[in-house]
Amino acid sequence: MSTPAPRLAQSANRLPGGGTVIDRLVTANRAYAAGFVDPGMDARPVQRVAVVACMDARIDLHAALGLELGDCHTVRNAGGVVTDDTIRSLTISQRALGTRSVILIHHTGCGLQSLTEDFRHELEMEVGQRPAWAVEAFRDVDQDVRQSMQRVRTSPFLPHTDDVRGFVFDVTTGLLREIDPRA
Ligand SMILES: [Zn+2]
Repeated sequence: MSTPAPRLAQSANRLPGGGTVIDRLVTANRAYAAGFVDPGMDARPVQRVAVVACMDARIDLHAALGLELGDCHTVRNAGGVVTDDTIRSLTISQRALGTRSVILIHHTGCGLQSLTEDFRHELEMEVGQRPAWAVEAFRDVDQDVRQSMQRVRTSPFLPHTDDVRGFVFDVTTGLLREIDPRA
């Protein structure tokens, strides 16, 4: 390497044995690539389904849903909420890459349940700028799943809204609980 390493911030995520977490990921990738065989897959998801889920570290979506590599599109964000950007991904998923079902997965113990929209105000006080995005905090996870289903079903950009279902994943049992959109 001829270029100097970028200066790390005081708070760089260092490991006890030296290096950073990202260094560890890059090392793991070298081992992964060494054994990698091109699966020759098409970019179109085999099961024609898009999964919208919270980014929570405890949810192993593929394992929890019996999905294999290549089966689905995965759209994850804080809360698994349906934002304009989620709709952007779903629109591309359906119109350009052939998916037609959408499964929404929120979960018990979500970090967004402990936040409120005050979070935006606090951010503004700290950095002098109010974020353009909503925090999308919620109190009632079932109601938030219903709202998310509604946003998908009413999007004018999505051609396939007949197979949209929402669930709450229990992080202590691994079980999904389906949410009735009409309740
Ligand atoms: Zn969450």
